[in-house]
Amino acid sequence: MTLALDESHRADLRSWVESANASTTDFPIQNLPLGCLRVEGGARPGVAIGDRILDLSAARPVLALESRVLDAIDACVAEGALNPLLALGRPALHQLRAAVSDLLRAGTSAGERARSFGDSILVPLSGAELALPIRVGDYTDFYASIDHARNVGSMFRPDNALLPNYKWVPIGYHGRASSVVTSGSSVRRPSGQRRDEATSPPTFGPSVRLDYELEVGAIIADGNALGAPIALAAAEQHVAGLCLVNDWSARDIQAWEYQPLGPFLAKSFATTISPWIVTLDALAPFRVAAVRPSSDPAPLPYLDDEEDRAHGGFDITLEVLLSSRRMRDEGQRPLNVSVGSFATMYWTLAQLVAHHTSNGCNLRPGDLLASGTVSGATKESRGCLLERTWRGTEPLALPTGELRRFLEDGDEVIMRASCERTGQRRIGFGECRGIVSG
Ligand code: MN
Repeated sequence: MTLALDESHRADLRSWVESANASTTDFPIQNLPLGCLRVEGGARPGVAIGDRILDLSAARPVLALESRVLDAIDACVAEGALNPLLALGRPALHQLRAAVSDLLRAGTSAGERARSFGDSILVPLSGAELALPIRVGDYTDFYASIDHARNVGSMFRPDNALLPNYKWVPIGYHGRASSVVTSGSSVRRPSGQRRDEATSPPTFGPSVRLDYELEVGAIIADGNALGAPIALAAAEQHVAGLCLVNDWSARDIQAWEYQPLGPFLAKSFATTISPWIVTLDALAPFRVAAVRPSSDPAPLPYLDDEEDRAHGGFDITLEVLLSSRRMRDEGQRPLNVSVGSFATMYWTLAQLVAHHTSNGCNLRPGDLLASGTVSGATKESRGCLLERTWRGTEPLALPTGELRRFLEDGDEVIMRASCERTGQRRIGFGECRGIVSG
């Protein structure tokens, strides 16, 4: 676990990109998230700074980096994704962060030199098209929020909400990588089998219980060899950073198909991720203790150490907003549906990585490990409509007078995240957006 703060985290750092100094920006110089800018014929790696994107390949001549890192930037252009950079591992990403921080800083010689390149290395964020930042080889979705597990469990098994394995083994399933799309992509309502009543045969047609799931995704940096588990203490060394994930879910299809092997077509039609990867280095000031109460059983030794107990959590505030087509037509602002915190997760990120590889399973650069729906203890912090409207029994009232139990065609789901702490500069994740089409 790398928690050390350095020069790049200093709250008083300022950038010569003026918009990065605004208190409201998600992308001050203390953040420096990685993404991919779509350009004619491909995509180029970049770093968000204020309302601009630093084009890493254009900035190559002014970046003080080892040749293997510069070569990886070229390889990212060739691949149209960040995977070659991620494959170099955390130390190289740390080096890149330091070099970019130096280059974008106001009042340094490196900064002055870069500033003279001006618009040739910066692209305005508004109007830029952002590509899927990674080529996702594999996608795993966990179930790490105990409040989510309890809520969903209590709807379906009132007497036995939390299954006996929950506090022992991080639950997950293998998701579909090919249908991971970037923020802004429209999501087609899936058709599938559902059974409305236990006494009737199933029918096939468009899902009528389409839902979002608010999740945090971890992007793998360098992976592990097949057969070589990653120990808990080393787990975070294999994670490049975090993004937002919307794990779209068709609850009616899910309810009928999930036994006995788990989610399948109810989930595989689309998963949206936010375009910026906020590095674990940028998140170092926002680490918190894991939440597992001392009255709960201690995790098995391979999932337990002092460091993870003390600092395994991330204090990230997460929000979901919803806007119907009619709200947009009437000029209404999106409705805030929930606010929660990633700090409430029962299983830590390091535990998820250590568990995933504990059988020797190999992770590869660009793999996506999603947390599972992030829900807290209060109604306002429930991270999906299934919980937020309690299976549709407590519909949400939109400002237009429309009601929502589940998502309707034209609905836009917007997820946001940010980190704040006294004495530190606030950083944000940008947005993860998707509109449902019929
Ligand atoms: Mn999920």
